[in-house]
Amino acid sequence: MSTLRLILGDQLNENHSWFAKKDANIHYICIEAQSEVNYVRHHILKLATFFVAMRSFCKQMKGKGFVFHYITLDDKTYQGSLVSVLEAYLSQHSYEKFEYQLPDEYRVDVELKQLAKRLQKKGIAVKIFDSEHFYTTREEVGDFFGNKQPRMEFFYRSMRKKHGILLEDDGSPLGGEWNFDAKNRSKYDGKAPIPKRKERKTNIEDILSLFKNTKTMGRPAKTIPWPTTRKEALEDLDFFLENVLIHFGVYQDAMVSGEPILFHSLLSFALNVKLISPKEVVNAAIQTYYKKNGKITLHSLEGFVRQILGWREYVRGIYWAKMPEYQKLNAMGHKESMPDWYWTGDTKMNCLSQCINQSLDLSYAHHIQRLMIIGNFSLLLGIDPKEVDAWYLGVYVDAIEWVEITNTRGMSQFADGGILASKPYVSSANYIQGMSDYCKSCFYDAKSKEKENSCPFNVLYWDFFHRHSKFLAKNPRIGMAYNNWNRLAPKEKEMILKKATEYKRNKNSL
Ligand code: FAD
Ligand code: SF4
Repeated sequence: MSTLRLILGDQLNENHSWFAKKDANIHYICIEAQSEVNYVRHHILKLATFFVAMRSFCKQMKGKGFVFHYITLDDKTYQGSLVSVLEAYLSQHSYEKFEYQLPDEYRVDVELKQLAKRLQKKGIAVKIFDSEHFYTTREEVGDFFGNKQPRMEFFYRSMRKKHGILLEDDGSPLGGEWNFDAKNRSKYDGKAPIPKRKERKTNIEDILSLFKNTKTMGRPAKTIPWPTTRKEALEDLDFFLENVLIHFGVYQDAMVSGEPILFHSLLSFALNVKLISPKEVVNAAIQTYYKKNGKITLHSLEGFVRQILGWREYVRGIYWAKMPEYQKLNAMGHKESMPDWYWTGDTKMNCLSQCINQSLDLSYAHHIQRLMIIGNFSLLLGIDPKEVDAWYLGVYVDAIEWVEITNTRGMSQFADGGILASKPYVSSANYIQGMSDYCKSCFYDAKSKEKENSCPFNVLYWDFFHRHSKFLAKNPRIGMAYNNWNRLAPKEKEMILKKATEYKRNKNSL
């Protein structure tokens, strides 16, 4: 019996039980498929990073003695979608079994299920395996909440208990609190040195030439900073734990001009393509905390663990509970088109210029830049969540739909009406000024909503609440905003709304 096993581009897990023993009758296939390159307009560096990682994985597993077939994007024999290439390959070779791991994307899941049916009709047996990566199963978050309103905090606490993570002996949370978020909101004061990362020189010039005829976004570079092998991912994890975790919590929400990474881990790509597992990252962080004997604060450690054990698993569970309906939700009814400068970074708004330009250069922005700068502005302007999703899915190296759409459409655009988050994440310039140095060198005035050059956030913020008062005024978490809006004199309200309309009309030249 010979078997063909599919390895998707985000299933580069050498510790999967598939690789526990070698069998010459089991072959593996990895495909650079046109459909995966083109399903959205991707950042050129995102595509290159995926292909480098896939090629390295294949080469390494071949070296270990596994039989790997690798189909490159320019292979003339196999062109088309992932599934059509697979089908052609299977029909040209005499495999009796086809096996795959549960994909993380709904779209691919549907396509593979349909393929499985067709293959079974032709007498090819199909078997599906777990990807053995996450803490939870696909259904776990949905089952945990049932018909109740999902909330990350409750799920996170249950995960801490279930997996015995950061608990006292009596099962209560270590340090007496489940969540130290309030201590993780400092502006960067320049005191902690920003760690110098070892420059990675993975050359991608050959790979870039593959995308000559592909409509991409972003700016090409000769090298990429991302770990594309397990060895590199483990090196980056070590670097983070040794040098960066100590400041992660405090400056988690901080933003600094010209410092795209600050105190973040850069591990999302390696995690999402399964070069490393969430369990080993969480366990290594906890071990480092104890090893450093008091140097790393509990709030830094807990903040980091919460992102991986909490948010990452939670958004995945919401995705599987709510797809495919989730991808159409637009609770705010937003229809605006995206300003042109999302594709060029050419805007006078310094915060957006910093965050969009670094996204176009690196295919990376950290969480608060994605949420409270680009996402915040997109929501205030009222951009159609379909366009926002496509931009986020294309631009970031770690963007795979299960984690992108939940964060973008749900957390950032409130288009799910509050399934994922309990209130929209919006702010005026006040928050941005409080968490960054962006406003200091901006064309716009962060303090004003009256002047000619008033910060667009300041007027769009009130315009947003005014437009959505029917939907949002009853939300107990935002009552305060409406109290403040209602205290303003009618003339002032009128002036703010007029300015917001002017900014919306001229969105391309902001
Ligand atoms: P760190 O700040 O060092 O955090 C450590 C790890 O925690 C990350 O690597 C990631 O695996 C996990 N994590 C942190 N926050 C989240 C979260 N909200 N959801 C899931 N995992 C989280 N993350 C993606 O992996 N892919 C995406 O496509 C993606 N799109 C996003 C879109 C928006 C609008 C927002 C607000 C967030 C998005 N995130 C996404 C979550 C988060 O911004 C990134 O995981 C993080 O910036 C990656 O950088 P890092 O590895 O340096 O993270
Ligand atoms: Fe952004 Fe407004 Fe600050 Fe300029 S003034 S950086 S537009 S928040």
